[in-house]
Amino acid sequence: MPPILLAVDKIYPKGLVWFRRDLRVDDNAALWQALRTCREVLCVFVFDKPLLDPLPRIDRRVEFIRESLVALDAELRALGGGLIVRHAVAEEDIPELAHTLDVQAVFANRDYEPEAMARDARVFGALANAGITFVTAKDQAVFERDELLTKVGQPYTVFTPYKRAWLAKVDAFYLKAYPSRGHADALIAPPARHDAPVPALAALGFAPTNLSTLEIPTGAQGGAALFEDFFDRIDRYDEARNYPAVRGPSYLGVHLRFGTVSIRGLASVAHQLALQGNAGAATWLSELIWRDFYFQVLVHNPQVAQGKSFRPEYDRIIWHHGKHADGLFAAWCEGRTGYPLIDAAMAQINQSGYMHNRLRMVVASFLCKDLGLDWRRGEAYFATHLNDFELSSNNGGWQWASSSGCDAQPYFRIFNPVTQSERFDPEGKFIRRYLPQLAGLSNKVIHAPWTASPVELAAAGLTLGEHYPQPVVDHAEARERTLQRYGVVRGPKAKAAD
Ligand code: FAD
Repeated sequence: MPPILLAVDKIYPKGLVWFRRDLRVDDNAALWQALRTCREVLCVFVFDKPLLDPLPRIDRRVEFIRESLVALDAELRALGGGLIVRHAVAEEDIPELAHTLDVQAVFANRDYEPEAMARDARVFGALANAGITFVTAKDQAVFERDELLTKVGQPYTVFTPYKRAWLAKVDAFYLKAYPSRGHADALIAPPARHDAPVPALAALGFAPTNLSTLEIPTGAQGGAALFEDFFDRIDRYDEARNYPAVRGPSYLGVHLRFGTVSIRGLASVAHQLALQGNAGAATWLSELIWRDFYFQVLVHNPQVAQGKSFRPEYDRIIWHHGKHADGLFAAWCEGRTGYPLIDAAMAQINQSGYMHNRLRMVVASFLCKDLGLDWRRGEAYFATHLNDFELSSNNGGWQWASSSGCDAQPYFRIFNPVTQSERFDPEGKFIRRYLPQLAGLSNKVIHAPWTASPVELAAAGLTLGEHYPQPVVDHAEARERTLQRYGVVRGPKAKAAD
């Protein structure tokens, strides 16, 4: 009788792990699967030209990836392997490389963006034509695609019941780590003709950014260090996370984006603490669940990535456009709106590639509900500038703010940029950090400098229109215009709130 093949038996003589947005060794589902099922394992990362070519030549994400690859390569080498790094069109290069390296299977972690899914389908076909298996694994999310559906088998469109279902289903099985290191003896070094250091930024056509000045830690070590730092503050997260001047959030977004931390590892710690009654950890876990929620919204509604509103009736809105609108958009991008909290927030993203969550909500609302501009313009700006840009969450966030999205804020709810500032930056600390020209104003008027008396302005050394702009719109008037603009959308006519 032939021996029965157990799942753990080595099925393939040689496999290739294609790293994409999972730049770590530990708890990496695809890597673990390859190590378990292949006698020899090679590793590759492709700087994908179709993704890189449209980017500005100075891009923190590219530098973050490059630095993280250097760390990943070193870690793999210490385990007997190494990383082949290519600069090519991934969907052509991977099948060619797999053929040249004579592997029987390629392993990768699944992606949920429509273009990435289409690319992977083409890679699957090309590999299949060459008789090579394409094995994909879940790694980016705790629950993916159809794993959580309503009782009638439909995808969730409201967060609260989704979260309830997520919490009811999650257990040690879904959160356990994949112990890649335990099987690392299958790693082999890249063949000599593919063995080269990770290319420098210049070789990829990019210039250095201010990533190191910002002290944004890269690689799996950087992700672990940030989490360690956050762990000491996690029980205060539910309160501290709302105040942009306070070190409240984890700043792990960019690490989740590029997989230098494991979502299972983070969710597991937060879940255990939450079960012990830690309110901060429970709130943070909710945020991680939002991330899963938006992934599944995108998978089930890929049209949102093509500029469509999740609620189609919101595509009837006619946004302010033309020269004046372009001028307002430029003022928003450059932090020249005359509303200090908005301008400080835009300075934060422009200088660092990060923006605090509260501020993302406020500036997004300001763009579409104060300036009357199409939310897609803001979405695109964030997509270029955020280090942690995630198509699903960014689209979800913008559609939430513009009220066109899944479980979004009602259209008549319009953030007041001044009261938001008074509430969440009461002492103007965040504003002063990014707009030093306003530093001399009192805590009372710093949120709305145009309300300061001439004496106060003079004492602060400030001339409005010269050192700092007058407001580009009047919030109360803009609000009325927005309520009219949104009138084309059917819905409950409710009392407007701030
Ligand atoms: P923490 O508060 O420490 O949260 C931990 C992690 O939970 C985050 O890193 C993120 O992965 C996830 N998370 C937190 N809040 C949300 C949320 N509301 N939706 C989905 N996931 C969440 N998040 C992105 O990761 N990428 C984006 O491109 C993005 N664009 C946004 C655009 C708008 C208009 C809005 C309102 C929100 C957006 N968010 C986005 C969500 C949120 O603002 C960021 O995840 C968060 O600010 C990142 O900082 P942090 O890592 O310190 O977060």
